[in-house]
Amino acid sequence: MNAVTRPARVAKPKKRVLIVGGGLAGLATAECLARDYSGRFDISLLEAKRTTGGRAGSFQESKTGRTVDYCQHVAMGCCTNFLGLLARQGLDDQLHRYTSLKFFHPEYPVSIFAPSRWLPAPFHLMPAFSSLRYLNRSQRRQIKYALFRLFRTSSEDLGGSLAKPWLETHGQDKVTIRDFWSVIVVSALGESIDRVSLAAVRKVFVDGFAAAHGASDVLVPKLPLVELIGGQLTVAIEKLGVEVKLGQVVRQISTDKNVATADGKVVAADHVVAAVPWHAVNDLVPENAVDNLECLAVAPASPISGLHLWFDRQITDLPHAVLVGTVAQWVFRQPWEDKQASAGFYYQVVISASQSARCLPQQELIEIVLGELQHAFPETRRANLVQSKVVTDPKSVFSITPEFEALRPPSRTCLPWLHLAGDWVATGWPATMESAVISGRMAAASVVQREFGGNLEVEAGLPLGWLARRLIKP
Ligand SMILES: Cc1cc2nc3c(=O)[nH]c(=O)nc-3n(C[C@H](O)[C@H](O)[C@H](O)COP(=O)(O)OP(=O)(O)OC[C@H]3O[C@@H](n4cnc5c(N)ncnc54)[C@H](O)[C@@H]3O)c2cc1C
Repeated sequence: MNAVTRPARVAKPKKRVLIVGGGLAGLATAECLARDYSGRFDISLLEAKRTTGGRAGSFQESKTGRTVDYCQHVAMGCCTNFLGLLARQGLDDQLHRYTSLKFFHPEYPVSIFAPSRWLPAPFHLMPAFSSLRYLNRSQRRQIKYALFRLFRTSSEDLGGSLAKPWLETHGQDKVTIRDFWSVIVVSALGESIDRVSLAAVRKVFVDGFAAAHGASDVLVPKLPLVELIGGQLTVAIEKLGVEVKLGQVVRQISTDKNVATADGKVVAADHVVAAVPWHAVNDLVPENAVDNLECLAVAPASPISGLHLWFDRQITDLPHAVLVGTVAQWVFRQPWEDKQASAGFYYQVVISASQSARCLPQQELIEIVLGELQHAFPETRRANLVQSKVVTDPKSVFSITPEFEALRPPSRTCLPWLHLAGDWVATGWPATMESAVISGRMAAASVVQREFGGNLEVEAGLPLGWLARRLIKP
């Protein structure tokens, strides 16, 4: 009897996905597609620089030879998508977690901001706010009232409002705005209180503080970002089957789904994800593919400055501190053990929304900050500054104004093969690593949706406690 020969099962060819940009948004897109849709896509990531990580990166200081981050990056406990990405790749132990913050005001004793572990959210914040010794009782009452009003108003109802006028009409005096709202808003949103959208401020206080225990925990990488993101995270993503190509500057993504690089190569793809910053995307993608890109390209950015300081002795053993009422806003002690102790004791001072600070001559800025450190940490008076460097990225983050919020596009575009990722996409988050990772998941979801009609959910955030669910409007 003749054997019946069945036709060989032909495997469906894999769809080719090209991701342009190897920041956290591009890396998150790649991880999501490679992990959840393993074997269905052939994924390549093209990054212009010699390392991945984008703005979450590091440099080698020439004099000390030390690798330090351009600017200290911190995550918060509420950044569940960023933390989830690291955890899935076995990197969650590479962050220090702190459950309290120390606030230094030049005229008051140190305040320790530590939410209660026992009170239900959002009341767990009450003892923390009450411990801010540079605010008087009336100012603390003002804050509680405004927070309550924010919780009871959904972000949709806040429309395109600015934060500062709303705070003023909700009983916040000048000092409360300057020493409380502004301090938190500037470091969380990277922009000054008079420019930011009220919806963004609500996001910070609801998601970042009020909604759940642990939301306001601060997480600091235990190693330079170039090692964590550019190194270990990227290697883990490559192991999932993603091809990462460095030094590939993409010049153009054309309507025929071809991607042209600066060295003259043209690569064809089934799907292209543009994961470049908001000011670069308009030049790359086909004309009219996405609404508002011309406006986004010229939308204002906000600078963040990192002052890198090497002393000959320790000036404080605190891992970090928030400085109130000074030019310096945060100070971080080097978060990893140093093998070259001879190079000095490293601290980084961060100044967000540094428009005025960066206009000062570098030496003058360093002198001002040194005076502030001497006041906060008297040991600084005995220390010699052996090396210093000021690094400012003028386009650190987009300025999160109501106008910018209205321009943010979804990942999906009118071209079925073109998708957008980047912290600037409509994630609902300010320019953060969390927003970049969420946007990567949104771009991956858009690819999957166009290809198979399936869906991919963004991680929902920390679970809300019973009281928070009742008190805080969605
Ligand atoms: C000074 C500073 C401090 C910050 N502090 C914090 C913080 O404490 N916490 C926090 O959560 N976030 C912080 N952020 C924000 C955070 O770094 C960003 O939100 C996040 O890294 C953005 O990731 P992304 O992938 O969207 O964009 P990017 O990191 O900008 O990545 C885009 C990538 O695309 C590449 N690219 C661009 N054009 C091309 C091209 N033509 N071809 C190929 N590749 C291209 C770039 O080289 C880059 O690698 C800070 C940012 C700065 C600058």
